[in-house]
Amino acid sequence: MREIGPERRPLVAGNWKMHTTPQSAVELARAIVRAEPPDGVGLVLCPPAIAVTDVARAVVGTSVQVGAQNMHWLDSGAFTGEISAPMLAGVAEVVIVGHSERRADFGETDEMVNRKLRAALAAGLMPIVCVGETESVRDAGGARALITAQVEAALAGIDSTDAEPLVLAYEPVWAIGTGRTATPEQAAEAIGWAREALSHTLDAPAAQRTRILYGGSVSPANARELLAQDGVDGALVGGASLKAADFIAIARSAVPKQTSA
Ligand code: PEP
Repeated sequence: MREIGPERRPLVAGNWKMHTTPQSAVELARAIVRAEPPDGVGLVLCPPAIAVTDVARAVVGTSVQVGAQNMHWLDSGAFTGEISAPMLAGVAEVVIVGHSERRADFGETDEMVNRKLRAALAAGLMPIVCVGETESVRDAGGARALITAQVEAALAGIDSTDAEPLVLAYEPVWAIGTGRTATPEQAAEAIGWAREALSHTLDAPAAQRTRILYGGSVSPANARELLAQDGVDGALVGGASLKAADFIAIARSAVPKQTSA
């Protein structure tokens, strides 16, 4: 019989992408806090970099965490326009790494994702590492191999103890911002592949305790079914995170999952 271990606390993270000004970001953060986030569900807000500090101030005294959407892997240097993990660590607790928009639009490679992940962990940040296949890869039957390769590459050389704060997000590229979601079964299956890939590089307890989110057009209408799936520990939410009521409705759909010991 499979032993049931401790719970993986659900996490719902909002990726605000290149939306909001510092002022409207603070208003949105305040509206989310006022909407009474459910107990027992971690909430993370990832505004544009220019608003991270203001949003972090706006949620002081609440359980809401703030993150950045990206960072460089080096601590400092001549990298115009970039921000580093130690800079973020002073104001934020979380960082998204390897979002598919960064991979596709800014040439972010698996190797860069690995370097960013190491830097985030070294700075004490909670990284949310995104993996996921394009539609053509899925249609060609390559989703499992791609997800496995992305997870293995991201985690290369990182030991289980250091990976303690790690969160993964399975985000099929074809579902991001498209209004199309993976079916609950597709999400659960792909998250199972990702968890198995984690166990190729991490020890079994670390692979089991790592939370894996689903992302891709999550909305109040589809969240309950998606987040009820075995292994789905929460959501990374883009569009719907820009409306406080929708984001909170999604958070209310999250259910704790047991780790299998
Ligand atoms: C995302 O940006 O990670 C995302 C999942 O976006 P959306 O929810 O809008 O598909």
